[in-house]
Amino acid sequence: MSITPLMPVYPRCDVRPVRGDNCHLVSEDGRRFLDFASGIAVNLLGHSHPGLIGAIQKQADTLMHVSNLYGSPQGEALAQRLVDLTFADTVFFTNSGAEAVECAMKTARAYHQHAGNEDRYEIITFANAFHGRTMATISASNQEKMHKGFMPLLPGFRYVEFGNLEATKAAIGPHTAGIMVEPVQGEGGIRVGTEAFIKGLRELADANDLMLIFDEVQCGVARTGKLYAYEHFGIEPDILATAKGIGGGFPMGACLATEKAARGMVAGTHGSTYGGNPLAMAAGMAVLDAVANDEFFAHVRTMGEKLRSRLEQFIGNYPDLFVEVRGLGLMLGVKMAVESRPFVAHLRDRHGLLTVAAGDNVVRVLPPLVITDEHIDEFMEKLSAGAADYQP
Ligand SMILES: *Cc1c(COP(=O)(O)O)cnc(C)c1O
Repeated sequence: MSITPLMPVYPRCDVRPVRGDNCHLVSEDGRRFLDFASGIAVNLLGHSHPGLIGAIQKQADTLMHVSNLYGSPQGEALAQRLVDLTFADTVFFTNSGAEAVECAMKTARAYHQHAGNEDRYEIITFANAFHGRTMATISASNQEKMHKGFMPLLPGFRYVEFGNLEATKAAIGPHTAGIMVEPVQGEGGIRVGTEAFIKGLRELADANDLMLIFDEVQCGVARTGKLYAYEHFGIEPDILATAKGIGGGFPMGACLATEKAARGMVAGTHGSTYGGNPLAMAAGMAVLDAVANDEFFAHVRTMGEKLRSRLEQFIGNYPDLFVEVRGLGLMLGVKMAVESRPFVAHLRDRHGLLTVAAGDNVVRVLPPLVITDEHIDEFMEKLSAGAADYQP
């Protein structure tokens, strides 16, 4: 037998982390890494936050899981907190980002079909989007590398160029139910939607009675310096998918919606065995306790600006390697003039620095949101050394 016990769907590197220490990781062989990947925008409190660990330990001691057959004081409290903090009136808890997106898409379809419009099911999505790896969420993305081997896709999606409002308008037809967008594309290469584009989507949705869905699985939960990225654009979505950072490392997600948007999500229409279990709710509450305050948002913005300006100064030294810095808050991307994946591997293997490759030859810089000036100094030292001895 040659297949590995872990299904070989990931090209895993040979760093094998066994312990976390704030913004660093320690591997099985004792090497120490500066973690500016954060488990892909998940560990926003770093790896050893006492509040998060304490909350999970305490809840694990008390009650981990009961199912959604029973009343949920823990779920009600976290849902109320999210409702108070956002545009939303109601929340469905999931275990992952893809499930949060699934719930968002079902909510958008049910909005129309609950009112008798059975023929409204199509969702407009954007080129280079990433929405997850389930059948519906790969169908929602135009990326052929995710489709290959898994045909046929689910029908009901139309792909439009990211940022192109005219093409979005032209794609709206009698079957359109909603528009789904990452306000800041993550996997696609840290592309920030312009204010004109995002506001334009809101106007198109309003004019055509469409549900505007924001996939904030990567850019949400204080990553951009606001609790959710929509706050940067002066508009609100109807439905929002959140996950990754919301559990700080504990697997959970949520679909947030307005009362109007959720009109079809009545008893019996949706569910999840684990979703919203007491252990996940304790993790989510501990994360919000730490991040959902103006002081924390200001910290993220300050660190984001420092890191960005250091990066912008630095890349000027290597015009053959780097093109530009883009992003919002601590969701940053460095676009390279060469392939980014081998450079990410070089930083990791030779310089003990973890980042994440993304589409469009971008190096994603996604540090824990609790970084300090010292971490930025260490990052710049490692990056400088990595650029100096890199042979593309
Ligand atoms: C990671 C991601 C997802 C999928 O989340 P999973 O937890 O891996 O299912 C969906 N949308 C965006 C924008 C993401 O970055």
